[in-house]
Amino acid sequence: MTGAGTTEIGTATILLVEDNQDNQAIYTAMLRHVGYTVLQALDGEEGVRLAREHLPALIIMDISMPILDGYDAMRLLKADAATAHIPIIALTAHAMASDRQKASDAGCSSYLSKPAEPRAVVAEVGRVLRCPAGTAP
Ligand code: MN
Repeated sequence: MTGAGTTEIGTATILLVEDNQDNQAIYTAMLRHVGYTVLQALDGEEGVRLAREHLPALIIMDISMPILDGYDAMRLLKADAATAHIPIIALTAHAMASDRQKASDAGCSSYLSKPAEPRAVVAEVGRVLRCPAGTAP
């Protein structure tokens, strides 16, 4: 893994909800490399369960997933007072404005278009974590 030297060193717990195992592996490796603790979920239902159980500092949420997709998972988390404050970075498959609007409506703090470079994911995590709650554009 190269290029981590310029990224923010973090120690926060990040929940990565992503059904693609390759993306899970590479994002997890990159986030752990710069110091974050990473929890992994492979579908939206598991993601909601882990979020409620561990109350991570931030959630990275894929949109297209089995059992419960990212939109519905975000809506559940935002409707629950225990998890509503947790910032969510949505991973949207398309850069289309409608996809971004739908992700924003479902409750994400920000989004990254897939394929997202691991370094871009780490940079966005650092940026959102530095924002006061709820103010990330
Ligand atoms: Mn997916």
